[in-house]
Amino acid sequence: MQWPRAVIHVDLDAFYASVEQLRRPELRGRAVIVGGGGDDERRGVVSAASYEARKFGVHSAMPLGRARRLCPHAVVLPVDFTAYRKASSEVFALARQLTPQVEPVSLDEAYLDVTGSIAWLGPPEQMATGLRDRIANVCHLDASCGVATSKLVAKVASDLRKPRGMVVVPAGEEAAFLAPLPLRRLPGLGPAAERQLAGLGLATLGALAAYPIAALRRRLGEHAATSLSERARGIDRSPVTVPERPKSVSREETFVTDVLQRSELHRRLRACSADVGRQLRRGGWSARTATLKLRYADFTTHSRQATWPTPQHGDTVLAEAALRLFDGAWSGEPVRLLGMGVSGIVDAAQLDLFDAAGAPRDTRLDHTLDALRERFGKAAPRRGGAPALRDLDFRGEDLRADGEGDD
Ligand SMILES: [Mg+2]
Repeated sequence: MQWPRAVIHVDLDAFYASVEQLRRPELRGRAVIVGGGGDDERRGVVSAASYEARKFGVHSAMPLGRARRLCPHAVVLPVDFTAYRKASSEVFALARQLTPQVEPVSLDEAYLDVTGSIAWLGPPEQMATGLRDRIANVCHLDASCGVATSKLVAKVASDLRKPRGMVVVPAGEEAAFLAPLPLRRLPGLGPAAERQLAGLGLATLGALAAYPIAALRRRLGEHAATSLSERARGIDRSPVTVPERPKSVSREETFVTDVLQRSELHRRLRACSADVGRQLRRGGWSARTATLKLRYADFTTHSRQATWPTPQHGDTVLAEAALRLFDGAWSGEPVRLLGMGVSGIVDAAQLDLFDAAGAPRDTRLDHTLDALRERFGKAAPRRGGAPALRDLDFRGEDLRADGEGDD
């Protein structure tokens, strides 16, 4: 079989619930629901359900109260992202043994472009089967894989025979593979679009693919019609993209009115630091150097840097550095812009980042807050009060002080 491009989509089955069953053997074979916010059960939703619970109609995003009524004997557990991140990083490490071209989509999903590995490791379907077996043997987790010439078709394929599914769509057979499937199988085709298409008498992806494009454009508009029609035939040229490590990460805020209170400036700076820290942790990175940017009402701009003895990614350490740089630089005049950045970015030691048991309390809290921000955006809680100051090694102080002139 010829593969002009070979993409594997690997998707862990009932991931959060499986991790819980793995570390609590008494839960294996039982209905497990992961979800809730811990404190406010009434507002909680299901994040994941084991297959034993799904049999009763429980599914993710369902209100927890409803899930409990459907499956009263289920064990309900709080979300523990630290544990899931650790399991996820182990699975992705196995995926990277097949190719460096791995694009994580979420903790339990990734695309692999294995085109370049075929000469060494054999056909992509063999790589996918091997990966699924290693995930089972090494991580003790179930995964489903789809193999196809594009991300789109590989994703539809992996979803088709869960759990422990393995669906291979050979090159040239994409449209025929999708044709009998219902519209909602196509990623990105939401309930609203489905209703619209149903109004045209369309129920399957094959019917959508065969529908005259001109008529579809009149109904849905040029862009949506073209895109849907192509995707229904399995056409998707999007590449597998490996997240790149940036040279620096920064966050700054220009105030609507100049700010004069130290406590308020500290508060804004801590928020910037938390955003920077979150981006570092999301990429699995640490940084060596912290930079403060400070602009006064008259547009004079100052920047101060400090270097840590070892790379850092924790909110407390980042905020601490930013506040110390600020206190050392601020003249007491009104501030127009304040920002915090880091550079000298390196890959964080995996153990430090992901080892739940060994991770300091601060790291675990950072990950908890990250998870909440991923779910709730700006409404999520942030760290409160000033972090305790510790001894830092400020080796590169005041490397630059310049006036840039614009925002
Ligand atoms: Mg999954």
